[in-house]
Amino acid sequence: MDVPSDLSTFRSIGTAPGAAGDVMRGTVRWAPAKSLWVASMASLALVGGYLTFSWAAVGVFAVSTALVLLFGHSLGSHRKLIHNSFDCPQWLEYLLVYLGVQVGLAGPLGLLRQHDLRDHAQRQPDCHPYLRHGRSFLGDGWWQLHCELVLDAPPDIALAPSVENDRFYRFLERTWMLQQLPPAVLLYLAGGWPFVIWGVCARITAGVTGHWLIGYFAHNHGGMHNRIDGAAVQGRNIGWTSLLTMGESWHNNHHAYPASARLGLYPGEWDPGWWMLTLLRKLGLVTRITLPADLPPRPERQALDAAALLAPVPSTPSSNWAVLHALRAILIARQTVTLRAPCVNLPPQRLAALCGAGVAVQHLPGLGRLELAVGETVVRGMSGVLLGIATRGRAAALTALALLPLALAVETVRARVETTA
Ligand SMILES: [Zn+2]
Ligand SMILES: [Zn+2]
Repeated sequence: MDVPSDLSTFRSIGTAPGAAGDVMRGTVRWAPAKSLWVASMASLALVGGYLTFSWAAVGVFAVSTALVLLFGHSLGSHRKLIHNSFDCPQWLEYLLVYLGVQVGLAGPLGLLRQHDLRDHAQRQPDCHPYLRHGRSFLGDGWWQLHCELVLDAPPDIALAPSVENDRFYRFLERTWMLQQLPPAVLLYLAGGWPFVIWGVCARITAGVTGHWLIGYFAHNHGGMHNRIDGAAVQGRNIGWTSLLTMGESWHNNHHAYPASARLGLYPGEWDPGWWMLTLLRKLGLVTRITLPADLPPRPERQALDAAALLAPVPSTPSSNWAVLHALRAILIARQTVTLRAPCVNLPPQRLAALCGAGVAVQHLPGLGRLELAVGETVVRGMSGVLLGIATRGRAAALTALALLPLALAVETVRARVETTA
């Protein structure tokens, strides 16, 4: 079998003959514990969620889901434990991984093994459809949420001893389902059963279902900047889910640079996990961060578009004067407006539909950030989008004006964080 050249650097497959195993032959079997866990959480979330609905409980669901996905799944489980793409104090690593267990997918060591098996299998010329999400949509859902793959000759996955022998991780591995009890008790004390149903059962259901959905789409449909020659399956980027997944849906980038701590690599690709990492670095809590430039070259990686050859561009914030000047030009002088955008998170047509009829939308993939131009004045990022929306009419202009201070504040923080990244 033709083995991709980077396999030798893949950290967790043993080097002994036969260690790579056979990732083609195996049986998919119903996994009772996993299946009952997912089904009971989903039924409790659906029935209980309907019976106990309140906006406060929905708020608890939204905040707790965002927290476990950002700090737990994206930073703790994926970018730290699995890829070790940054350094942080041990207590912070434990806290992040603990939050990762709260997603309700598996224990930390089980998740690590499952990820490394897929990572290894997907780099082979071919692998079992279970490992590359190769079945129909619903078939894949049944497999991933209710079944397990038992390979005839599984690869020899050796975890780093420091992780495998860690007593805290072993404890979490044995008790990962029970780890939902502490937050459940706290939520019960804070708001009774509605908070428990929404803050635990609905959160787990959303996290586990979302994890499968992204896994399915990120290996079947979506954009690509890079292609890995000789791999059984390519990763795909799903732009519109970048905020919901905390940046994890830039999966084509992840296949291209698996050990990079940053997932949204190209102009306009939103990556909340990366924003949080750079903030933690500013606070002195995160030290080493691995980026694509730090990784060894991979001859099998082929750039497919101009963006893949560009380095990520840090954004320059537009001055508040520029914003005021553009506002005057749009609302009073009624000058013509151009929006130039990488249009990664919003397709150009949808961006044009958001703005007034007089706004010309240009798709420029090489541009660092979306920008709105009125004459000589340029306004970047979210403030630019709001100004574009303001051209629609009076109600849109008032809404845009009300949101503008928030957008300016976000842009300022983002620019500060990025210039030190
Ligand atoms: Zn993948
Ligand atoms: Zn990964």
